[in-house]
Amino acid sequence: MNHRLYQDVEHVHGSVGDVLRLIRTGDTASRSTIARSTGLAPSTVGLRVDTLVELGLVHEVGAEGSRGGRRARRLELDGAAGFVAAADLGANHARIVLSDLAGRTITDTDDTGVSEPLPRADGPAAAVAELWRRFVQLAEDADLPMADFRGAAIGVPAPVAYPSGRIVTPAFEPSWHDAALGALFQEHTDAPVLVENDANLIALAERSDTLPPECSQLVAVKLGTRIGGGVIAGGRLHRGVGGAAGEVSHTSVDGVSAIGCTCGVPNCLESVASGGAIATRLRAAGHDVGTTGDLLRLGAQGDAAVVEELRAAGELIGRVLAGIANFFNPREVVLAGAMSASPPLVAAIRSELYRMCLPLVADDLEVRASRAPRDAGIRGGVVLALDEVLAPARIDELARRGVLAEVG
Ligand SMILES: [Zn+2]
Repeated sequence: MNHRLYQDVEHVHGSVGDVLRLIRTGDTASRSTIARSTGLAPSTVGLRVDTLVELGLVHEVGAEGSRGGRRARRLELDGAAGFVAAADLGANHARIVLSDLAGRTITDTDDTGVSEPLPRADGPAAAVAELWRRFVQLAEDADLPMADFRGAAIGVPAPVAYPSGRIVTPAFEPSWHDAALGALFQEHTDAPVLVENDANLIALAERSDTLPPECSQLVAVKLGTRIGGGVIAGGRLHRGVGGAAGEVSHTSVDGVSAIGCTCGVPNCLESVASGGAIATRLRAAGHDVGTTGDLLRLGAQGDAAVVEELRAAGELIGRVLAGIANFFNPREVVLAGAMSASPPLVAAIRSELYRMCLPLVADDLEVRASRAPRDAGIRGGVVLALDEVLAPARIDELARRGVLAEVG
């Protein structure tokens, strides 16, 4: 494999990689359904499938139903053909999940109790070395040979420049500004390691699991100590030209900032209405509020000052989201992050959003909570890693070189 990233942008229609994509995303895939949906000749589909079987990526199982006595066998991605890693990094944690190629979790450090943060004092290269050491250790503990490691995705609570993967002004560790963690992994592996903003990963994880992927049009917002956002357009993560798409939190709002922000936008949403801003404002008024956990608890207990702050912040967030909904016309606005568990905040966001958006937009809009508030970020990392390592262009290259066949 080589170091080119984001191979998903280019591939040949009807190629081996394309056929694997259909097998991954289709409800039921067989040689005949693939021939129908691609328009390829059955003999060509047969060759493509044979290559995928030889590569160890696909196997045929069971019967799809009988038609004229001939049994159509169902094609499945072989999850055991390799594994990927996803990591979710923050100031106080480094959660790691190893997943098979079918997206099934093999091991999760939140279950094994070892999600302690990476050391950051010695710079990003040392942190990457430690993260790689943990990947190797987890694989060893799960009896996975590192030869089967296909790639990884790392989520960080900061903007990430696209396509360089450089972290921009990370509040969780300012000294990591401009660090390219993915490139630092080249010291340890030839497999692709992508770095992505954590809210973008949440958006990926929240893509519809009932509609075809290309029908997903959603905005995901991570509400925590800070605020982040991600956009899925036509089923794909929309990063914009430089990776900044979805940075809803740095929109100037009608309020006064309570915390600093490096964005330079006066009174940006994050500095006025994030969990960190609300807690800071309450502390200044003499309330005993330390963390977002305190805000949730006091809000649930009906503390009048806290509820009023949550309601006011929710209105500001809802108004910003209404502008985005009017412009983008999403099917869903998904609320995630610790603060999305606050009923007064969420109620205010919801009512202000619906009040301020066009009927044509509101009619088809669902404002909902994350399907897995605690796991969306890390699940999104698995999705991104798998989409990359199984990208049609990358599979086409494998097919040309027969790399997996030689290894397996
Ligand atoms: Zn800002």
